[in-house]
Amino acid sequence: MTDTLDIKITKAAQSRLAETDFNNLPFGKVFSDHMLVADYADGEWKNFEILPYGPILMSPAISALHYGQAFFEGIKAYKHANGEVSIFRPDKNAIRFNKSAERLCMPTLPEDIFVQSIAALVDIDREWIPGKPNHALYIRPFMFATDAFLGVTPSATYKFVVIVGPVGPYFSKPLKVKIETHYTRAAEGGMGYAKAAGNYGSSMLPARKATEEGFDQLIWTDAKEHKYIEEMGAANAMFLLDGKLITAEAKDTILDGVTRDTVIALAKNWGIPVEERKVSVAELIEGAKNGKLTDAFGAGTAATIASVASITYEGVEYPLSDPATREFSKKVLTTLDDIKYGRAEDAHGWNYTV
Ligand code: PMP
Repeated sequence: MTDTLDIKITKAAQSRLAETDFNNLPFGKVFSDHMLVADYADGEWKNFEILPYGPILMSPAISALHYGQAFFEGIKAYKHANGEVSIFRPDKNAIRFNKSAERLCMPTLPEDIFVQSIAALVDIDREWIPGKPNHALYIRPFMFATDAFLGVTPSATYKFVVIVGPVGPYFSKPLKVKIETHYTRAAEGGMGYAKAAGNYGSSMLPARKATEEGFDQLIWTDAKEHKYIEEMGAANAMFLLDGKLITAEAKDTILDGVTRDTVIALAKNWGIPVEERKVSVAELIEGAKNGKLTDAFGAGTAATIASVASITYEGVEYPLSDPATREFSKKVLTTLDDIKYGRAEDAHGWNYTV
């Protein structure tokens, strides 16, 4: 830790808490009273400020809008039964934040400043954290280029912003997924491992087509052959095949998920063999047919553990076991929740107390 970050604080004149319906929290639509903003200019980060949540004035020429020098993170803070508040593994997001920054030719932010920034905002808006099961405060840190210049060149100025808002579950039921064999999320040498805004922009058309075909999500495959599993929507795809936890190795086409890392750590604790490797579509389909594929889920901060109900490949639907009977993902979800909500010992030191 360096010295405590100096943040100028201007409180909202009036809180919007009282007019917020905590029984109706569609993901990502409700924001708290404050936001944190900082500027990068002259080679350094400055002007850290927490101020009332609201619009940011910008030039229409900012390069983020034209060339996509923009990326983000997704983290959650939880309220424990005793009122304590903790953020789940923000240090991991700080590292990934800087990986994204480097890939997009943008300035990095010292990890402790990243964590202190979000902790300061969560602290000010701690009343916004829902105290209900499956609910949390979603934290969205992001950075974008602010030079008003249409040349295709890295900006010299940037903004780092953090907004937060209360959320409930992202998915309400097990997912019917399709293996995507035409579109690609990321190619080798590309920026799949970065949480670049553009990665999500390019995913929307394939996702919409999948929805129109009646699927809840799609599973991305490799760009070259469409034969190997990459990720599931905006979550890492994980499977229990023949008693082993298998998932795509974290290479440059894969977003190295914090939840993925957490699930792997838990599986190892429990003595379950873990294989981070190329996962072929063929072996999954074979496993679905012969019953050796006993669990399949997406793992992510927003999605948490999202069970897969069936996998469709080349027009054929392969139903999987009833998610209610899946021991592994149920145990993962319970264990994760117990740690995040402070009901179990945090042996790995994953909770950052605010
Ligand atoms: N893959 C993609 C493409 C994602 O957007 C996300 C969500 N951040 C994940 C995986 C899961 O990452 P995490 O567990 O860190 O949220």
